[in-house]
Amino acid sequence: TENNTEGFPHSLVELLDGFKASKTLFTASKLGVFDVLSDTGLTLNEVAIRIKASVLGTEKLLDAAVSIGLLHKLKCEDKLVYRNTEQTKQYLVSDSPLSLHAYILHCNDMIWPLFNHLESAVREGTNQHEKAFGKKSENVFQDVYLKKAEMVMCFMNAMHSIAKVTGRDVATAFDLSRFKTACDVGGCTGAMAYEFTKAHPDLSVIVFDLPAVIELRSHFQPIEQAGRVSFVAGDFFKDDLPKADLYILARILHDWSDEKVHELLSKLSKTCTPGCGLLLSEILLDEERTRPSRALLQALSMSEGRQRNTTEYSNLMRKHGFSPVHTQYTDNLLDAMLFVKDDQA
Ligand code: SAM
Repeated sequence: TENNTEGFPHSLVELLDGFKASKTLFTASKLGVFDVLSDTGLTLNEVAIRIKASVLGTEKLLDAAVSIGLLHKLKCEDKLVYRNTEQTKQYLVSDSPLSLHAYILHCNDMIWPLFNHLESAVREGTNQHEKAFGKKSENVFQDVYLKKAEMVMCFMNAMHSIAKVTGRDVATAFDLSRFKTACDVGGCTGAMAYEFTKAHPDLSVIVFDLPAVIELRSHFQPIEQAGRVSFVAGDFFKDDLPKADLYILARILHDWSDEKVHELLSKLSKTCTPGCGLLLSEILLDEERTRPSRALLQALSMSEGRQRNTTEYSNLMRKHGFSPVHTQYTDNLLDAMLFVKDDQA
């Protein structure tokens, strides 16, 4: 929306307060507010007891949450009670099927500290993991997220929650009926792979990810396991990739510099035979690199990675013999592009 140049700068004030609203959401999630409210409405005192917090602090948090549309506050038999909204029930209660809870905790614990050091990140052009977490990191996955078992679980939970919300739209973006085997490169918990097998009854998917991730996969397997999803542990920069006729790269390339992307694509190009598919799923920037802001805001805390538009992705792919065939903008968190390996490259 355009800024109002006459009159009061409402949109600017909203931006000024944006961090307070985000932190209200993060803190309410972390303290379990939406979980204790999930069934019925509760009074302030009841919430404070259940989340083990002060009444004074809880009142401020709940009222702030009401003001930004996360909760209802209503009169019920002469008492004021707080209740989850329909959207809160669906996306913020931690055990709801499409819960964003784990991703919100990831934003609070892993992303927020990086934004505290945004000024130095901009000045220095480097990631701020050392300032934020006391660890120097060349590779955020190996040095930060996957260093300790409980961190791996938190990271996997966060990726799993986004993949569950976005997976169906990515899996159904294109007609993939001619592919029988897929490899989800950096496929994490398998959430995306399960969506692909659900959407394509003849497709089997191999999830390839680092050993620390693959080791914990059983925590994330759906009860009605399809049997067409399997897992292989390895490093996509060092090890051979499993053979498949479709390779999926979902939320992988944005984490890496052009140089690293070339390294990975060159390996994929050698593994792929002509006609092999490559399905890329990322937030796609517009040509001028001005939208969507979600992608550009995310880039501020990225290490060596970079957000790209369809031209930039196509240019990277063409260098390795992959031609773009379709692009699908979803109304969800991730868009998708389908490439096919050329006859001679
Ligand atoms: N594709 C998943 C999705 O869209 O939900 C997960 C995306 S997550 C941002 C990146 C994934 O790449 C993580 O699961 C991480 O463990 C994996 N990864 C990072 N470096 C890797 C490497 N060198 N070899 C294999 N997997 C790697």
